[in-house]
Amino acid sequence: MNHNKIFFGARLHLAGWYAGVMGIILTLSGVGIYQVMAHAHWQAVDRELESVAGTLHDSLEPLLIESDRISPSVQQILPNLCVIGEKCEQESSARHIMGAIQQDSFYALFLTHSGTLIATVGKPPIGVVPRTSQETWQTIEDRKGNRYHQISLLLKNNSGKSWGYLQVGRSLADYDHHLEQSKLILIVSLPIAFLIVSIASWYLAGIAMKPVYSSYRQIQQFTADAAHELRTPLAAIRATVESTLSSDAISELESRDILQTINRQTVRLSELVQDLLLLSRMDLQLIALQKQVCCLNEIVSDLVEEVSALAIQSDIDLKLKIDNESAIYVNGNEDQLYRLILNILINAIHYTLEQGKVEISLEQIEHHAIIQIQDNGIGISSTDLPNIFDRFYRVSSDRSRKKGGSGLGLAIAMAIAKAHGGNIQVKSEFAEGSTFTIEIPSIFC
Ligand code: ADP
Repeated sequence: MNHNKIFFGARLHLAGWYAGVMGIILTLSGVGIYQVMAHAHWQAVDRELESVAGTLHDSLEPLLIESDRISPSVQQILPNLCVIGEKCEQESSARHIMGAIQQDSFYALFLTHSGTLIATVGKPPIGVVPRTSQETWQTIEDRKGNRYHQISLLLKNNSGKSWGYLQVGRSLADYDHHLEQSKLILIVSLPIAFLIVSIASWYLAGIAMKPVYSSYRQIQQFTADAAHELRTPLAAIRATVESTLSSDAISELESRDILQTINRQTVRLSELVQDLLLLSRMDLQLIALQKQVCCLNEIVSDLVEEVSALAIQSDIDLKLKIDNESAIYVNGNEDQLYRLILNILINAIHYTLEQGKVEISLEQIEHHAIIQIQDNGIGISSTDLPNIFDRFYRVSSDRSRKKGGSGLGLAIAMAIAKAHGGNIQVKSEFAEGSTFTIEIPSIFC
């Protein structure tokens, strides 16, 4: 397939489309997963901050007395509290009820109404001036580019009056690191996945193109064979006409002879063309079989009668095994069924040597009519057997041509059997004989 320019191009085109579509789906899925992951992570950060800030807020409010001032009891529950202007003692090892705020990544800021920082807990961003803001959530960045996320809450003192602001925040270093890693995995894995998809696409395109390519090859072969078959009688006619034209005078007997030769070749030509037409119409299902109830016993008996002269002429013992008491009916086209059995029966006579035997039998097995044509003729070798139903396939061209065969007889028989919902099976031993079994669905009348 790859040596054929058209098919190579088509395969490449198909693989390109597969890979392109899969690449877009993969990229969109990757970006989608990344977004969902980032969103879920961000929500977890928000929830964590909300919970820490809420606990701190609820624990501190009953302890606050004077606005904008940190009361000593606040320092008791927040041992790491660093009041601005006072000496700070960092007591990081002790476990405490405000455990979360002691973690390295968290911090809390206490601000007055005017936004002045009065105390801190943990490690707040360096070099960032705290501001009170209308927005509850803020994301800020320090000078080194480290990001922080924080929540601002209004604090009230124990008498319910506004005290100032509490800002609880955390570093986004682990969040950013996690997202960076995910991004890196995506950036590395997407091209690898795309490469795998491209290879798979090329392979799949090959599988998809295979039946198309084999049909194309069959058509090419068929055209070449048909041209070859048509050329032979045409060449014979031409040679006869040319030799007649070049001879000076021809007698009436000679001209009869010449006309007979031309007639023989034109009959052969028109038969060939008719066979080809029949096959192509059957392929395109242009022939709507005019089906009717046909009695196979009658068809087979008529056929045997028709070919018996040929059998006698070829010195072949032709036997008919048929149970005339129980007629077998099928729903089909009588002419076509006749042609189907005739093609196989004629072959059996043609390919059986003198004093050989040909037997045709008809029986009903379950819902099928079985017509068996058995001969003890030249047989077919196991290498030829799978091909004998192919168009123009002939095991021995010389013998077939001598008998007037074109290599289309079995192809037509199979096409008719299939059009009737049936099948043909063949068993053959080289130099021993062959058995063709035709199976057609039967009907009960
Ligand atoms: P043809 O017109 O050459 O007979 P067919 O399509 O009818 O073409 O048959 C294809 C080939 O199958 C024949 O050329 C012949 O070699 C082989 N064949 C068919 N029937 C028989 C048979 N009964 N015994 C031996 N060979 C057979």
